[in-house]
Formats: sequence, structure tokens, C-alpha cells
Amino acid sequence: MSLPKLVILDRDGVINFDTPQYILRPEDLVPIPGSLAAIAALTQRGVRVAIASNQSAVGRGWISEEQLERIHARLLALVKEAGGHIDDWAYCVHAPQEGCACRKPKPGLIQTLLARANVAPKDALIVGDSARDIEAAAAAGVRGVLVATGYKDAAYEWRKARAAQPAVPLYINLRAFVEHLLSS
Ligand SMILES: [Mg+2]
Ligand SMILES: [Zn+2]
Repeated sequence: MSLPKLVILDRDGVINFDTPQYILRPEDLVPIPGSLAAIAALTQRGVRVAIASNQSAVGRGWISEEQLERIHARLLALVKEAGGHIDDWAYCVHAPQEGCACRKPKPGLIQTLLARANVAPKDALIVGDSARDIEAAAAAGVRGVLVATGYKDAAYEWRKARAAQPAVPLYINLRAFVEHLLSS
């Protein structure tokens, strides 16, 4: 696999542990072991890293945009402390019923990040823990990679993701994927 110019990460279940209760406070954001080091390794190899994340907790009225910003600030601080850098981010703050163009599996967040980075779909790569991340990747023409660190059934997500991208690879976590990417 050639090194991508831009790696777009889903947040919950990829960088930090996800929970059915949603990430509602900065202290709810607990990094998955190895994920911060993996981001740092990408940064140090000159691969830009961005985040594309559905955060419907805002649209559902469970948290404010300011609270989402506080949670995001904690994430940026943790990544920085580990020696990594997040170049850009795009959050969908809409509730599912709003029918926006950005909530994954729609490709809006990814298209926004590609345009802002001036990177072609073929030069990017997306890492997610859900089939909808891979569906969004496929809709944007970007290669997707699945990791098994979400709270949902990874085998189910993998089967579902293969409908969108038949050869989607599955890794145990972000660290395993990044080690593979950077050693190939
Ligand atoms: Mg996720
Ligand atoms: Zn949206």
C-alpha cells in the first residue's frame, strides 16, 4: 500500500473508546491504547491526519456545540502530548432525521476534508469502526479500512462494509493498521 497523503479517522471507536451512552463530556474521551502513538507515527512520516465524525448528540440536544468543542480540545491536547498532530476535522452535528448531506454514510464530511486539504480521493485513506464509515469512504471514492475497536459487533460491521467496498481490510486496532501501513 503506497503512503496516503491524508488519513481521515473516525473518532469514536477508532481513536477513543466508543460507548452506547455517547461521549458527552471531555472526561468521557478515553484513548484506545496505541491510537495516539499511531497518529504520532503518521505525523512523523509526513502523513496528514484529519477527523470525520458523526456527533448527533448535538442535534439531539444532548450536548451543546461548545461542549463538543471542549471534548475536541481534549482530544487535540492528548494527540499533541503524544507527539502527533490533527490537521483538520469535520463533525456532523445533525440529528439523523435532519437529512443533512454530511452524516455518514453520506460522503459530505469526507468531501469537505479532501477539498480543504486539496487531496484527491485516491491519495487519501479512511479508517473507521462502522460499516457507515466505509460506505461514506466508498461514496467519496476513498479506500476504507475497518478496525475492530468499536463497541458494536466488528464481524457484523465488516460483513456490511464489504457491500460498499468488497476488499475492505479489517485490523484489530488503529495501531496495528498504522504499523502495517508504515512498514509496507
Ligand atoms: Mg465510530
Ligand atoms: Zn450533518
